[in-house]
Amino acid sequence: MKKYGLRLFGILLVVVVLWHVSRSRTFQLFGTLYARVNTAQKVVALTFDDGPTSQTDSILAILRDLDSKATFFVTGKELAMHSLEGQKIVLAGHQLGNHTYSHSRMVLKTWDYTRREIEKTDSLIRLAGYRGEILFRPPNGKKLFVLPYYLQQTNRKTIMWDVEPESYANIANDSKKITQNVLENTKPGSIILLHVMYDRPESVKAIRQIVNGLKQQGYTFKTVSELLRYH
Ligand SMILES: [Zn+2]
Repeated sequence: MKKYGLRLFGILLVVVVLWHVSRSRTFQLFGTLYARVNTAQKVVALTFDDGPTSQTDSILAILRDLDSKATFFVTGKELAMHSLEGQKIVLAGHQLGNHTYSHSRMVLKTWDYTRREIEKTDSLIRLAGYRGEILFRPPNGKKLFVLPYYLQQTNRKTIMWDVEPESYANIANDSKKITQNVLENTKPGSIILLHVMYDRPESVKAIRQIVNGLKQQGYTFKTVSELLRYH
């Protein structure tokens, strides 16, 4: 019985370790991952996940007003449904990144499934007119074996984040708290994550306050590709 107990303990330990690896912001088993950029210069990247949706126009109007660039990690599925919005993001000089086609949890998926999720989305990003390097961000930040290995084999970079105000329930529904959290946690080279494509009025409201607040502290906003050049 003792032997089985030990074996069970071993299996549980492996599961727990893999679970932590799968959700880590700063580590993956293969390839290159950035959760932030190492620099002393006051540069940051604002990133938006999911979409594009019908919210795109209002987000673009805010960014135009603020004269700031952002990076949109879009899903292929939504880009196919809102291709015009995708083109507008590119025309406005922002960056498009790959957030998979269907936004599934990319853990325990096959090589073929992974390839389709990524390649279909890249093709749609190219169709939208984006010419730069296509960076990748995993849905919900989840990755384990096949996904990072595929990304490494195809020379793609994984972009995570180091500032995520919406991950705290007591902050996510208040634009002032979102802004405060971002202003307190942003460092030179930070990558800020916000979700503004669905019904998140407080996050949308926070964009203006965040950009103005960080600009006041001397920061300039870069796309993620521009930010990586400071690394
Ligand atoms: Zn997402």
